[in-house]
Amino acid sequence: MSDFDFDLFVVGAGSGGVRASRMAASKGFRVAVAEDRYMGGTCVNVGCVPKKLFVYASEYSESFQDALAYGWSGSQSGEGFAWPTLRDNNAAEITRLNGIYRNLLDNAGVTTIDGRATVTGPQQVEVDGKSYSAERILVATGAWPFIPDFPGNEHVITSNEVFSMETLPRRVLVVGGGYIAVEFAGIFNGLGCESHLFYRRDLFLRGFDMDVRHFVRDQMLEKGVDLHFNADVARIDRRGDGTLHVTATDGTTLEVDCVLTATGRVANTSGLGLEKAGVQLRDDGTIPVNENFQTSVPSIFALGDVTGGPQLTPVATAEAMSFVRYLEEGAASGPDYQNIPTAVFCQPNIATVGLTEEEARAAGTQLRIFKSSFKPMKFTVSGRNERSFMKLIVESASDRVIGAHMVGPDAGEIIQGIAVAIKAGATKAEFDSTIGIHPTAAEEFVTMR
Ligand code: NDP
Repeated sequence: MSDFDFDLFVVGAGSGGVRASRMAASKGFRVAVAEDRYMGGTCVNVGCVPKKLFVYASEYSESFQDALAYGWSGSQSGEGFAWPTLRDNNAAEITRLNGIYRNLLDNAGVTTIDGRATVTGPQQVEVDGKSYSAERILVATGAWPFIPDFPGNEHVITSNEVFSMETLPRRVLVVGGGYIAVEFAGIFNGLGCESHLFYRRDLFLRGFDMDVRHFVRDQMLEKGVDLHFNADVARIDRRGDGTLHVTATDGTTLEVDCVLTATGRVANTSGLGLEKAGVQLRDDGTIPVNENFQTSVPSIFALGDVTGGPQLTPVATAEAMSFVRYLEEGAASGPDYQNIPTAVFCQPNIATVGLTEEEARAAGTQLRIFKSSFKPMKFTVSGRNERSFMKLIVESASDRVIGAHMVGPDAGEIIQGIAVAIKAGATKAEFDSTIGIHPTAAEEFVTMR
């Protein structure tokens, strides 16, 4: 028995913190986790989970229209949308998930401490005036929305507030060109709002394959989202009736009822006491760690968004599994950061794994490129003007598929499987010799020639 209160004290019960706590406790370590906000962190409470539910909600407007051509009519056909129903059902689901997370921790034997933890020394943590010692401390505090500095920025909301808004705004401006911005521009549009997006450069989704970016732009425009590129907010003035008067940097103006900034997320490290405990931080507040998730203080570890890696739940949970392996075996060995598949739940969805064409060309690789664009079968009858896009990047010399990209319904569901093939080193010949599942969109990935 060690002299410490705990073998491991985890700060933050988000995706990474909960997984590390549970797994370490299941291996016999005495674990405590402190959380001052909500069980499950961003993903469960104000991120992946509610976002996906809201995407589902917003897709019904088009589905009701599609249904007409398939013979359906009547009172269900999308005559009205009740925001309070969605908001409250979402809140109830999140409360249910919070309870599940707490039970998982309890059942694993983790001591859950509700309160804000500060690191007071290399092996010391304080929560609400009570001090705890631990052989190791794990910082898994995630990230927090960044709001750009401009006059009137106190009038904006972020993804933290959007799910619990009192009313659904009639006109919305989303600022940003990353995951959250394109997802919410689509959600608001689908829910019937006038939906605008400001992105400061000439084409959003920087880092994604250029064909994908163009395709998504065209599809979003087709669906009615008002995309403003090379546009940024200079100031926001609130009128007496609550209207937000937005002045863009080019001098043009826009009147909306809500501005959502989705302009990146910064590491949650301020006020944690880390610098005082001797932990080195980068200028942007993220915590550098070695291959075993160890910070500059050997007894203090960090993983997930707070370390500045890919801000994705499955990456945080994979890191947590590797960290627990380190606790047991002395080496984390992983995770593998190559070929991380990812999806953006804009409409239509994007999913991608491996290299973009631009990345592969920059590496000097000789490539063969395969592309396909088609109208999904469901919309042929319904007449919905939406198309899907697929693209494979193949390294000529080895015939290996080194990138797969899709825009279309269920893109994430499809690319997850393709990611396994790419990770296993599948060649284009192996894709081609795989029998398709007919009729699906996914079969296109094995029939592109
Ligand atoms: P992203 O980093 O994806 O995008 C941020 C966007 O904001 C970029 O377009 C960026 O422009 C722009 N931006 C940054 N600073 C400013 C500024 N000062 N003024 C105007 N625009 C600015 O961040 P998000 O907030 O969208 O999401 C955070 C992270 O959360 C994502 O990176 C992703 O890892 C994760 N996430 C994952 C999801 C999923 O898996 N489906 C869903 C939602 C989030 P520029 O391109 O010029 O840098």
